[in-house]
Amino acid sequence: MKKIKLYDKEFTVGKIVCVGRNYVAHAKELGNEVPEFPLIFLKPPSVLIRSGENIVHPEYSTDMHHEVELVLLIGKTLKNAGAQSAANSIAGYAVGLDMTLRDVQSELKKKGHPWTLAKVFDTSAAVSEFLPAGKYRITGSEKITLSVNGETRQNSVLKKMIFPPEKIVEYISKKMTLEEGDLIFTGTPEGVSKVNRGDKIEAEIENIGKLTNTVI
Ligand code: MG
Repeated sequence: MKKIKLYDKEFTVGKIVCVGRNYVAHAKELGNEVPEFPLIFLKPPSVLIRSGENIVHPEYSTDMHHEVELVLLIGKTLKNAGAQSAANSIAGYAVGLDMTLRDVQSELKKKGHPWTLAKVFDTSAAVSEFLPAGKYRITGSEKITLSVNGETRQNSVLKKMIFPPEKIVEYISKKMTLEEGDLIFTGTPEGVSKVNRGDKIEAEIENIGKLTNTVI
């Protein structure tokens, strides 16, 4: 079981709910429509790694992409939440990676199949340390950036998210119960690109956190 520590409280990581196409420029770079509602998919907690651990490139893909994202830690059980309780349920923030097998995803999309095999593989989600939500209020002007071997690939700001964190939590809670320890990956800005074995990925959200993971 994966654990996350905030102050002296330990959270056991539950389901990981991910949002797709939450930045206009990223939806467009992959030729997708801008969604009317958050597009949702899941990863199991078993795929999660922390900053400093290796991302293991699966043999069956030749096009693994990085996606840097703001990650929310849910601090209490939530169902059919309103805006205020959705906002209050966010216990922490981190920067994360939603690693994606773009070639596998393209094949699945063509067939109209779920994205599961493109998104779920061991080490396909990474997170930094979590910042307690009570210690920081997101303004939207925070930079969200990712570099590969020192070269910047993704560079945006959080206010470009189509659906902000509390709206995402509110929406998800109307579809499935959120529980203490669940994580929400809130989508990636434009600039996603291929990584190879040996590449060092560094990601940061200003004032929130940093991570480093190497692809092997
Ligand atoms: Mg993503």
